[in-house]
Amino acid sequence: MLMKKKRNIIFILSFLFIIFCGQDVIKSPVKVEIVALEKGIYKRKTVELETVIDLTKAKGKYFFFLGAAKINAEYEYDEVSFVPNLDEIYFDKGKSFRLNIKKAGDIYLANNFETMCVLTMFYNLENILSYWQKNTNYIADENQPIRIVYDPIFVSKDSEKELFLQLKLNAVYLTGYNNLWFFKTSSIEEIPLKMNLSVLAHEFMHVVFDKNFSKGDLSFYETQEKKNTYRLNAINEGLADHSAWAISQDLSGYSSSLGDFDERELPAKFTNKDLKSSFNHAGCKGGFYCEGSVVASFLLDLTLEHSISQETVSSWVFEAILNLREDWQATKDVGSFDFYYLLKRINDQAGPENKAKVCQSFRKWFDDTINIKKAEEYCL
Ligand SMILES: [Zn+2]
Repeated sequence: MLMKKKRNIIFILSFLFIIFCGQDVIKSPVKVEIVALEKGIYKRKTVELETVIDLTKAKGKYFFFLGAAKINAEYEYDEVSFVPNLDEIYFDKGKSFRLNIKKAGDIYLANNFETMCVLTMFYNLENILSYWQKNTNYIADENQPIRIVYDPIFVSKDSEKELFLQLKLNAVYLTGYNNLWFFKTSSIEEIPLKMNLSVLAHEFMHVVFDKNFSKGDLSFYETQEKKNTYRLNAINEGLADHSAWAISQDLSGYSSSLGDFDERELPAKFTNKDLKSSFNHAGCKGGFYCEGSVVASFLLDLTLEHSISQETVSSWVFEAILNLREDWQATKDVGSFDFYYLLKRINDQAGPENKAKVCQSFRKWFDDTINIKKAEEYCL
C-alpha cells in the first residue's frame, strides 16, 4: 500500500514536471510574422528565423534580448559610448525576455506590439549578420553573443527611481562590451526606430568597427588630440551609414521612421569643403555625423558612378578598418589622423585597377584644401 502511494506521488510529480518544465523550446527554423520596411512602406510579412535557440526568450545563437535593464541616468551617453566599467552604468543588467506569441498553423504571431517589435528586430539582425558573413571575413562568435538591451530604464543613482528623460538618442553602443541599447524614443515615432533595418544596420556596424579597430582594447581609442578623435568618430559614423544603405538598399532609410533624419539621406547635400567653409556648417547640425555623411557619400559614389557593387565596397571597408588601426596608432598622439588614411586603406583593398575610380570619388567629396592636396599627391 505504501509502495503504491509512493508510486502515485512519483507519477503525479513527473506529470507536473512535464507540464511546467517540459514544454518544447521553440528553435530555428521557425516561421514568424514581422513588420518589414519595403520601399518606405511598412508591411506585415512571414519570414523564417534561422538562428533562434529559444524563441519565447528572444534568445539567438549570436545575439539575445534583455528587458527591464536599469541604467545610470547620471552618466552622459553618446550613440557610441565609452564607459569605464559596466558596474558604473548598470544597476540591473536586465532580465531575459518573455515574448507573447501564439501559433497559427506553422507560423508564430505576436500577441502584442512589443513582441512584434522584437521579432522584427530579430529578423533584421539575422539579415545584417548574414550580409557581413557572406561578403566579408566577419566571424560571428557564438561564445560572445551580442546583448540587445530593449528599452532600458534610466534610474537615478541615489534612489534608483525611474526617471523619464527626453531622449535625443535612439540607440547606444557600449564600446568594448558588445552591448547595444535600443530606446523608446519620442511620441512622434509611430513605428519604432528600432524596427527600421537601416537603423539596426547602422548600429551593428559599430560592433563590427569596434571588433576590427580596437580588438577589444578600450584604451586604443584614447588620445589627447581631439581633432583626431573627431575624425575617427566621423569615419565610424560614415561606415555605419554605408552599412545602413548597403544592407537596406534604401538611401533615405532613416527618414522612413522619423522625418527629422532627412539630414542623413544619401548622397549628402554638402561636401567636406561646404562643411568647412560655411558659417552655418552647410546647414548640417550633426557635428561629426556631417563628416560621416561625406564618408558614406564617397563610398556610395563608387557604386553610383563607377558601378562597383555595395557588397564589394563593404568587403573593402571591412579590411580597411583592420589597417586603419596601424594609421591610428602611428598618428593619434603625434600627427593628424584624417580622411586621407581612409582613402589609402580603401584603395589598398580596391587594388591598382580601381585606384583612379576610388581617387575620383574621394576628391569629389573631400574637396577641401587639405584633403584634396593629400589626395592629389597620393593619386598621381
Ligand atoms: Zn552611429
